[in-house]
Amino acid sequence: MRFLVLFFSLVFTVFGLEINLSSTDIQNGKSVFVELKKEKNVEFLNVVMGKESYKVFEHPTDASKLYTFIPISYYEKPEIKELKVEYKIFGKKNSSFMMLEIKDGNYKKETITVSSDKVNPKDEAIIKRTQKEYKEAIDIYNTVTPKSYINSKFILPLDTKITSEFGKARVYNGALKSYHGGTDFRAKTPLPIKCVNDGKVVLVSDRFYAGNSVVVDHGHGVYSCYFHLSKFKVKNGEMVKKGQILGLSGSTGRITGPHLHFGIRLGGMQVDPMQFIEVANKNLFKKRLSSKAVK
Ligand SMILES: [Zn+2]
Repeated sequence: MRFLVLFFSLVFTVFGLEINLSSTDIQNGKSVFVELKKEKNVEFLNVVMGKESYKVFEHPTDASKLYTFIPISYYEKPEIKELKVEYKIFGKKNSSFMMLEIKDGNYKKETITVSSDKVNPKDEAIIKRTQKEYKEAIDIYNTVTPKSYINSKFILPLDTKITSEFGKARVYNGALKSYHGGTDFRAKTPLPIKCVNDGKVVLVSDRFYAGNSVVVDHGHGVYSCYFHLSKFKVKNGEMVKKGQILGLSGSTGRITGPHLHFGIRLGGMQVDPMQFIEVANKNLFKKRLSSKAVK
């Protein structure tokens, strides 16, 4: 038996199941928070959008709930999408459906001029190097650590002016190459870069495009990325605390001037870091865990 529910609402109640969405419409490149209230005899499994399936996790501050984030790809077109919540009820597989409207982020275009050998490297060794670095990073981002390291709100890595927002279409030397996958913070002189939340350092490396890079795994498929650093202050594999200095900002890699590029990867995808932090802080830490167990 299949319950089919198709309507727009922030709260969906399907035969006693309560499912909450942080919003019923979302721009491409942003993140949606899905919250599921635990029920007796119901085992929530995944939330599915298109071909992607997202595991549900224990809510860090509310023992009565489960949650997951849905990253919306930058390349997602404006349309109505179906979110499918898969669960077992009395051991039998079932699913409920919700609607999510994808809206156009209307991102700006930015033109960048850099030396052409940095845009289209012809050197065989550089091509091999960038392919290896890409694969290494993607393998990290696609790994979902089943435990979460975070237990308090995210902070920003740097408290300076944002010089380039997430999502700007990038036109390198006249050709549309990509989009800006993170948020740039002003850092004209080397500044200490703070880790945005507790986690485990999973990459410390000098990379062709990103320069000196640190990637931190926060668990549950959430990674934070810090690029173009001049100096490292952590080692790969190290456990780090929120606010801990990961390194100093700089101008390493493919870059026109010194700054910090800060990124968030969610379920393998680049999402708007500022919007992710806002939605995570609002929904994961709205109340403290009560010492009284919920029946
Ligand atoms: Zn950047």
